[in-house]
Amino acid sequence: MVLSEKQVRADIVEVGRRIYEREYAAANDGNISARLPDGTILTTPTGVSKGSLTPDMLVKIDGEGRVLEGYLRPSSEIRLHLVVYRKRADAGAVVHAHPMAATAFAVAGIPLDRFTLPEVILNVGWVPLAKYGTPSTEELAQSVEEFLENHDAILLQNHGVLTVAEDPVHALFKMETVEHFARISLYARLLGRENELPDEQLQRLLAVREAMHMPGRHPGLSRVRDAGAADAAGQAGPAGRANPDGASKNITMP
Ligand SMILES: [Zn+2]
Repeated sequence: MVLSEKQVRADIVEVGRRIYEREYAAANDGNISARLPDGTILTTPTGVSKGSLTPDMLVKIDGEGRVLEGYLRPSSEIRLHLVVYRKRADAGAVVHAHPMAATAFAVAGIPLDRFTLPEVILNVGWVPLAKYGTPSTEELAQSVEEFLENHDAILLQNHGVLTVAEDPVHALFKMETVEHFARISLYARLLGRENELPDEQLQRLLAVREAMHMPGRHPGLSRVRDAGAADAAGQAGPAGRANPDGASKNITMP
């Protein structure tokens, strides 16, 4: 469904309000953008709390980040959004925020890569960790590029989370899914283990996803460890499919 510009502006404002109320972003943190049918992009402005946006505050830019319309300056993190629109023709919206539990994983350098919850597996698969880049720079934008091919949700090391979807509301939903997943993962780890679903169940979930024609990208069942951690450990490459023997796996945290 193609949304009118008026509707997209209203949705961005509403997504901003929810991000702020849920404490996914403090002060003026976080940013939201959406691509309109004519290829122009609406972005939240820099220096405004996501809890106090109004539709007129949004800035219209082109694919290079040049301002076309608006009286405020675009988000300082706009490069991070532009790389998504360049790389993904299917991307209609991008949300970036700092939700607490997911950002804690990003600070700890731990990707959210355990296949434990069906809703998460259906919606985002697993969430990789993009290596640290200085906020607002091209370096940060480049850090996510390699993951965009197969992922709609990415942890930004020592920073926060990026989600991509067909519209702002669904990009927020993905942010909520990631944060919920992070909180449950944290509790499970505190309890001492995470039981991953067996391979057979994972295959069934992917079949459901296909049957439902769910939009967006999905990493499937192969997990490549985050670039940063792999670099640090002096190794890179796929961790392999989950549970190739089809057995349920207990992962006990050290
Ligand atoms: Zn940020």
